[in-house]
Amino acid sequence: SSDADIVKLIGKQTDGLVVNLYEYADIGNVNDALMWIAEKSSLQGTNKEMLDRVNQRIDSYFLPHIGLSKKDRMEKARTLCKFIKQFYIARESPDSAVTDKDHYANKRVRLSGDLLSDLFRVNMNILLREVQHTLQKTVKRRKFYSIKTIAKSTLFTHRVESAIATGSWIGERKGVTQNIDKNNTFAIMSQLRRVTSTLPGEQENLAARTVHPTHYGRFCPIETPEGTEIGLRKNLALLASVSTSTRMEHEDVINVLKDIDMKDDGVMDIFYNGRFIGASDDVEKFLKDIKNERREGRLPTQSSVRFDKFLDAIFISSEVGRVIRPLIVVENGVSRMTPEHMELVKQGSLSWKDLFDKGILEYLDAAEEDDCYVCLDAADLTDEHTHLEIDRIDIFGASVSLIPFGNHDPPARMVKGGSRAYRQGLGLYAANFPVRIDTDVSILHYAQKPLVRSFTYDTLNVHPVGQNVVLAVMPYEGYNVDDAIVMNGGSVDRGLARSSRLKPYVSVELNYAGGLKDEVGIPDKDVSGYRTEESYRFLEDDGIVFPEAEMNEGEVVIGKISPPKFLSEAREISIQTKKESSTSLRQEEVGTVDAVFLTHDKEGDRIIQIRTRELRVPEVGDKFSVPHGQKGIVGMIAPESDVPFTVSGIKPDIMFNPHGIPSRMTVAYLMDVLAGKIAALSGSIVDATPFSGETVENLEDGLKKLGFRANGKETMYNAITGERMPVKIFVGNMFYLKLKYMVADRMHARASGKIALLTRQPIAGRSRGGALRLGEMEQQALVGHGASLLLKERYDSDKVVVNICSKCGALVIDDQIHNKKVCSLCHSNQIEPVEVSYAFKLLIEELQGLHLLTKFDMKNKYE
Ligand SMILES: [Zn+2]
Repeated sequence: SSDADIVKLIGKQTDGLVVNLYEYADIGNVNDALMWIAEKSSLQGTNKEMLDRVNQRIDSYFLPHIGLSKKDRMEKARTLCKFIKQFYIARESPDSAVTDKDHYANKRVRLSGDLLSDLFRVNMNILLREVQHTLQKTVKRRKFYSIKTIAKSTLFTHRVESAIATGSWIGERKGVTQNIDKNNTFAIMSQLRRVTSTLPGEQENLAARTVHPTHYGRFCPIETPEGTEIGLRKNLALLASVSTSTRMEHEDVINVLKDIDMKDDGVMDIFYNGRFIGASDDVEKFLKDIKNERREGRLPTQSSVRFDKFLDAIFISSEVGRVIRPLIVVENGVSRMTPEHMELVKQGSLSWKDLFDKGILEYLDAAEEDDCYVCLDAADLTDEHTHLEIDRIDIFGASVSLIPFGNHDPPARMVKGGSRAYRQGLGLYAANFPVRIDTDVSILHYAQKPLVRSFTYDTLNVHPVGQNVVLAVMPYEGYNVDDAIVMNGGSVDRGLARSSRLKPYVSVELNYAGGLKDEVGIPDKDVSGYRTEESYRFLEDDGIVFPEAEMNEGEVVIGKISPPKFLSEAREISIQTKKESSTSLRQEEVGTVDAVFLTHDKEGDRIIQIRTRELRVPEVGDKFSVPHGQKGIVGMIAPESDVPFTVSGIKPDIMFNPHGIPSRMTVAYLMDVLAGKIAALSGSIVDATPFSGETVENLEDGLKKLGFRANGKETMYNAITGERMPVKIFVGNMFYLKLKYMVADRMHARASGKIALLTRQPIAGRSRGGALRLGEMEQQALVGHGASLLLKERYDSDKVVVNICSKCGALVIDDQIHNKKVCSLCHSNQIEPVEVSYAFKLLIEELQGLHLLTKFDMKNKYE
């Protein structure tokens, strides 16, 4: 409590400190200090009250991570003194004191448990306050409520459930929970490894979006969305993980540190999770010892230690949410991972966890990695290195690591290929799909594993997407210009890229208050809103459609009638007051009924779920892609008889335009085709792991041994004329993914139809039966083609005739009751009918609503 004690605890004498102590020399004891704080925070009351409140505030709100009770005050004081020391050090040289907020040592990732505990804590407090409130009322009214009224279980449950259902968390955070993207297992995997920044996408935040050196091995430098969210959504790298809470007690950690010579006083301060715990004189030895203790398992595996030369302090951390990555420990230039260990790992007698227990691998966070020297390749190890990278591929995230020979593709293409094509490709999203109901899913009928693949593909062991096809890199009659591909009609007939789209329809037979309930069945003709007899034709007697019924748009899958919403004058419920509420196929939907599920919800209401399937055979306009970002749509499905063939009679499944290569520089695409050819011819899998896969030389040798040209080119014949083609064509095998964007979901046209009430213009949107917008650019195109009269017809969609006074130019009210058209401004009856757009008339009337006079200048149309 004396100035001398404070100076001793701070442990660094500066002029600033002396001046400060001198300035507040009149604060002589603890009470003076507390009163000074009370005055500064404008507390009021008697001296004792004020002291109590300052003490209470210090206990609960000042450095709460150290403790919340009276006994922790001394430790808080010691930590505060060390903070003051750091403040003075930073003030002496402000330039070197700057911290980088984008350095991952200064960032934390929050996992589901962490976020759920927030939600639980806040809602528990709300519940407790509510219980307290009710109990106070109970005492006042001298009445005892049942326990159900006092602790409303629904209050807590509803709040937690609604937060999880909507994703809006406490603290006004949105999107904390998300619907899982069930397109395929790669999409699920990618979503589960995604880290989303809390920064808003609209703001620039350039530094936060760029790749930081500390991202290496922690976040994939490739996989991020293009557009507003770029760099804010990241994916964890292959081996990265997030530290979770340690099971080791604080006291135990302190005891271990004391054993390795941690003292109360010394040159270097030691901090553990933000609190000052001791000091040491021999930093080198202390750091070495602490790392050894961790490798021996006496300190938490996920903990980290960092020496800050500038602040003269050692920071030890076992906090949750640090992004950590595993590395091989190197001692005196020798890797602890020996070939014997590798052999044991291969045999399966040494597990991932064993490697950490034996001190061969260890987790590093971004803070500790700053003090380490990591070697990329075992061959380059020197005495200075402290760690060795496990494999070069661990810079990538899971989906980017799957791109065959990915290190030979430009990053821009890897974004489109690796991360996007894999996520959007059709395949098998779940093995139990026949007994599931999911929205927005498709199944690829003959999904395959790629012949040329990265070893991570087998490690991840996910359900397949895409198919291996025979590819010829050649133009075809102009039908594969501009990234289009030409497909062999024969291959399509044999099942290439066939998929089924599955759609669910759900209806619940609800029980309402007052004994009213929904009735599932074929609706009676007298029910209000009865459709046509035709639309109920697939329903069986129970009102539910039968499996394998082939349905068209507007046809009913579940027939249902509901009681009226409002019980009006007529108390009795007749058949006429009931409402038709069947579930039917929406506009432009077709499908075969695939399965019918009958279940009950927890209220006991019957749930009827129908799944339809729709066969999707590839057609012109469907989108395909390879993992190298070479995406394109089908330009033509060529009859098999017209598809060119090689000397051995091979006809390609897909013809890809060679002009797609030089501008995109996807070298890995060419390597993939070459490797695919070897894989197909030799019947083996080719390793195409980025950085370590087969080399081009090996691939060329392999082709030569199989009796083909080393460059993969072959003589081909024109199937229409029978002539030999004058150039050799690059033919091989490639892995193609059918993406979820299909023409059948997009194709749309309408004649006249629904219009919006306000503007009288056609509504937008395919699902609502809307029209297609003929915009400014389309208008110019039509004028350019000399079809300007077509515009008159097109823009007539909201035509209206208005009457205009030809004397003063005002809009004239058409008085239909008196059958009179007289200008209300100049009382003239020289009125002319003029054809305008209704939206224009609306604009004029809105201007008039603002008290603006509008006038039409009219010309004689015969002049
Ligand atoms: Zn007039």
